[in-house]
Amino acid sequence: MRLPHDPTTLARFRAPSAEEPLRLLISGCLAGRPCGVNGSDYGLGARLAGLLALPTVSVAAFCPEDQALGTPRTMPDIHGGDGHDVLDGRARVIDEHGVDLTDQMIAGARAMLDAARVHRAELALLTDMSAACGSQVISAGCRLVAERRFTAGVGVATALLLRDGIPVLSQRDEKTLSRLRELIEPSHRHDPALLDYHETPWYLETFPTPVE
Ligand code: SF4
Repeated sequence: MRLPHDPTTLARFRAPSAEEPLRLLISGCLAGRPCGVNGSDYGLGARLAGLLALPTVSVAAFCPEDQALGTPRTMPDIHGGDGHDVLDGRARVIDEHGVDLTDQMIAGARAMLDAARVHRAELALLTDMSAACGSQVISAGCRLVAERRFTAGVGVATALLLRDGIPVLSQRDEKTLSRLRELIEPSHRHDPALLDYHETPWYLETFPTPVE
């Protein structure tokens, strides 16, 4: 379940405590690990530091691409579909040099699922646009081109987590992130003006037909 697309799921979450914190799986780069393709955290690490430091959250960070391909690495992108299509053999993961990385990306996804199970993760907070961790939008083919194209869909690791029943959201889902923070930090005040990524003008313009 992608939480931004079904807000009722979050409403059914238990209220975590310091004794029984919310068990969260998070993309390594979102946790500040230098595991991006270029050896950075893409500047994402500081953004959620306050939330991740709350005593009511227990965080397990994992990077499926670093696990399977190492860092730094070439840029994997999905050609012909999304992460579900890769798992079902209908799409491939290929880098900017034309090298097929499909098997490694599936292995990385499986390792991330193993990490989620070890942590007994109740929720996964994942970096959008990644061929592994995307949960709202991914690149349609190689992103290192003059005119990058997009697909509304999920990455390979995200697809595997979803198939195992783990709810997901992305760092771009501001509304659901705020609702989540209310759950784990009751003093947090939700801003009703916030939007999830699929509600933003860019998304609605890019994908005019609703995507499930
Ligand atoms: S694979 Fe996921 S965790 Fe690793 S750098 Fe990409 S988005 Fe971050």
